Amino acid sequence: MKIDAVTIFPEYFAPLQLSLLGKAQENDIIDIAIHNLRDYTEDNHHSVDDTPYGGGAGMVMKPEIWGQALDPLMIPDTDLIILTPAGKVFDQKMAHELAQASHLIFACGRYEGIDARVGQYYAQASFATQGIRVREVSIGDYVLGGGEVAALVMIEAITRLLPGVLGNPESLAEESHVEEGFLEYPNYTKPKIWRDLEVPEVLLSGNHGAIAKWRAEQAAARGED
Ligand code: SAM
Repeated sequence: MKIDAVTIFPEYFAPLQLSLLGKAQENDIIDIAIHNLRDYTEDNHHSVDDTPYGGGAGMVMKPEIWGQALDPLMIPDTDLIILTPAGKVFDQKMAHELAQASHLIFACGRYEGIDARVGQYYAQASFATQGIRVREVSIGDYVLGGGEVAALVMIEAITRLLPGVLGNPESLAEESHVEEGFLEYPNYTKPKIWRDLEVPEVLLSGNHGAIAKWRAEQAAARGED
């Protein structure tokens, strides 16, 4: 999978070099490129924003700079993800859907967001016929300062679903959200007693049927909270 992210803060993406994501890049499972939006400005101040038409507080990111940055990335079969708190809320179902994609672009807004015509432009039929899709996505019902953290969240949730990224792919089979409403049972490891708190007896029993039943009950009870 190829991933591009466009941002005015490329430094935000340093954690992508760590852990599973770092390894997935070393192993060529994912190819991630971070692009600095300011590289596409032409004025001396490298400005990317301007005042909103219609008035109001804050600044809006200029469409022509986004266009310059995004045009060269728009290859056939691409999902352009415009991060916005007004978008469709990201969940595990969307993560699975996007894990099937071959190319994702994350457009990270700042200030009051990106001029609405950017999404409108790439959603036109001439792009759709090339397999270019535009999605406005939110990672939750709260407002962040910028789309970078949202892109990191999505990249991690999506890429851990790709074959070869997790050390043990069986981890994906039973985890929370594998089906709508499913939450995983609580997990325990050694020691058997920690600060007077004991591991549930059934987990020490070696009785696989009883363990599976207990776990299913615990998972169901968590889902009811
Ligand atoms: N004026 C916008 C509004 O009220 O909908 C909020 C803009 S926010 C301060 C700046 C940028 O942060 C957005 O353009 C978006 O890229 C990102 N952002 C903020 N909250 C987000 C969320 N919940 N999910 C995804 N991106 C978010």
